[in-house]
Amino acid sequence: MSVIGIDFGNESCYVAVAKAGGIETIANDYSLRATPSFIAFSEKNRILGVAAKNQQVTNMKNTVYCLKRLLGRKYRDPHVQQELQLLPFTVVEEKGGNIGIKVRYLNEEHTFSPEQCLAMLLTKLKDISANALQTPINDCVISVPSYYTNNERKALLDSAAIAGLNVLRLMNEPTATALSYGIYKQDLPNPEEKARNVVFVDCGHCSLQVSAVAFHKGKLRMLSCSSDPHLGGRDFDMLIADHFCKQFQTKYGIDAKSNPRAFIRLLAEAEKLKKQMSANSTTLPLNIECFMNDKDVSGDMKRADMESLAQGLLQRVEQTLKQCLTQSGLDVNDIHSVEVVGGSTRIPAIKGLIERIFNRTPSTTLNQDEAVSRGCALQCAILSPAVRVRDFSVTDVQVYPITVAWDASPSGESAGEIEVFPVNHAVPFSKMLTFYRMEPFTLRARYSGSIPYPDKEIGKWVIKDIRPNADGKPQKVKVKARVNLHGIMTISSASLFEAKETPEPETPEEQQAAKGGEQQQETNAEQQNGPQQQQPNDVDMDGQQQQQGGAAPEVGSGSSWTKRISAWFSGEAAEKDKKKKQTVKSIELPIESLTFGFSNVELNQFTEQEFKMIASDKQEKERADARNAFEEYVYELRNKVSSEDELAPYILEKDRTSLVTRLDDMENWLYEEGEDCHKQVYVDKLASLKEIGDPVHSRRYEHETRPGQVEEFARSL
Ligand code: ATP
Ligand code: MG
Repeated sequence: MSVIGIDFGNESCYVAVAKAGGIETIANDYSLRATPSFIAFSEKNRILGVAAKNQQVTNMKNTVYCLKRLLGRKYRDPHVQQELQLLPFTVVEEKGGNIGIKVRYLNEEHTFSPEQCLAMLLTKLKDISANALQTPINDCVISVPSYYTNNERKALLDSAAIAGLNVLRLMNEPTATALSYGIYKQDLPNPEEKARNVVFVDCGHCSLQVSAVAFHKGKLRMLSCSSDPHLGGRDFDMLIADHFCKQFQTKYGIDAKSNPRAFIRLLAEAEKLKKQMSANSTTLPLNIECFMNDKDVSGDMKRADMESLAQGLLQRVEQTLKQCLTQSGLDVNDIHSVEVVGGSTRIPAIKGLIERIFNRTPSTTLNQDEAVSRGCALQCAILSPAVRVRDFSVTDVQVYPITVAWDASPSGESAGEIEVFPVNHAVPFSKMLTFYRMEPFTLRARYSGSIPYPDKEIGKWVIKDIRPNADGKPQKVKVKARVNLHGIMTISSASLFEAKETPEPETPEEQQAAKGGEQQQETNAEQQNGPQQQQPNDVDMDGQQQQQGGAAPEVGSGSSWTKRISAWFSGEAAEKDKKKKQTVKSIELPIESLTFGFSNVELNQFTEQEFKMIASDKQEKERADARNAFEEYVYELRNKVSSEDELAPYILEKDRTSLVTRLDDMENWLYEEGEDCHKQVYVDKLASLKEIGDPVHSRRYEHETRPGQVEEFARSL
């Protein structure tokens, strides 16, 4: 079983595998390391990765990309609406405001969710990996932007589930990059020494992420992570393309924006020009033949022109760099180095800004394109028992503050809310919240502060089966709020602490029995969670970091809460009746989660649909392979029987003539009624042709090899 890391990029995906000898990047079916994040649909099959991008210009409506921008969002989200202006395929609003991608597939109209479309791409990556490694693929770590919210993360997990991938961790891209930097560094400071602080700048196709990370031997801690989710190479391409659009309008009187196919071609040329400008500061040409209305177009640009066009973008790069520095609390002199990754950090103006702000030349220690996937593969190896790798502790941060709110209760507890995870809080992390309730209640979590999403809601959790105690009073309920390894916030468990008064045991045996598990367990729980004992960073039982501390519904009346707690456990009740002892029983409570994502039923249905599509693609591939094999044999045999140097001497002339005629007929058949037959038709035709062709081949083979054999036989005598 192999463990892999997937960098799911806006432009392309990389897959790395952790092996005993180190990390390797897997090449795809075109022997390329980058697989474009493109999927396409045709009347016969789905086309995924390289092939999908290659056919985009001729199949624009059915070629889907930029899924990373649509995942987990609603159709009416302004960011989605902005994306849609750039995307040539059809997107519609589905039930619940969700996004539907409408395509023609197998000669029918189909609407797929972004999750399903991404599952198709993941299926392809899984297939590429399984073929390259010759093992089944199951466990993986997939990268996500650090600015992804709960919904986007859950959507990605749903996609992975549909593709049959078991995600051990969704890893923030900057964190993956930092891991691939840290794990091989032999000279990191010891725990008692000052940390090595490294800044990572990743500017990709659609977004910019800047992070500050503190390294010690064997561990990394993310200090801060700033991003601009709308600033990447694509935005530079767009500026260049816009510039030429205007120029072509005046120069040739054509409006490239009115023709999506022409505009896509222009964007591709703008991207090429942009890359050339990174290496060259002289004026460079842009030429496109037959651009629109049969007109060839041309123009030129030099790096300085591009930089002045991109002033606005570059200012935003500067802001993001500075924001990360401020949030990290580091002084520029505390920074050991600035590492750049992501394709767009090759733009000289971006490198220049980094140099100016951090006062040092950016380093390129890491593989700029593959660092994220390599970090994911390393993390997967660390988490999976299947591969042995040096351990490295990773403490991440979550970038939006999270608030949990609760309703008032009929029994008198007031409504309230508390910021449970402030910005840049360590992840993974669990916190216990304590309530006093006698009936079910609801918790709501949302992002507070400004986030680039219209909907700040994370989810709703109904804590069920709460009942009053024997005296009809509220009981203590502890709820665990958690941001898990994937960076997903959830209410992961809830317990009711039911206090009971039991008679004081009389005999030593009874006394012993009374010291049993429940009493001990509750004492521990209380010790951990009393408001007096705020001890961050202890480790709880499931290995997650946990911060102790309580949040009572009566926020702002902490002292009365403390009094109630101490009254509960100080044994005041026992004082009153020496014959009674209080025991506390913890009862796990059911939680109903109302959060984003597919239900299990839907997931199963989509998984089944994906299976069917995989089977249908496989069938189509086998059919196309059978047709190709037959076509190839027809051409090859005809060429060979027509050549004196090949098979012509080994077939009688009259047989040769009729065979060539038959082969010509077969070629014609292949391009007419034989174009689209069932696989078996080609297999049968190939077999019947081989009955004629193979004896000719074997006559030549015997003729060419027998003399040698006769000589050898003669020598052996
Ligand atoms: P994202 O990180 O936004 O999800 P991604 O990971 O797919 O996207 P990368 O592969 O890091 O993106 O970078 C792709 C971008 O880098 C493209 O916009 C590409 O044009 C740009 N790029 C690649 N090489 C160069 C270069 N030499 N000069 C300028 N830009 C470049
Ligand atoms: Mg990237």
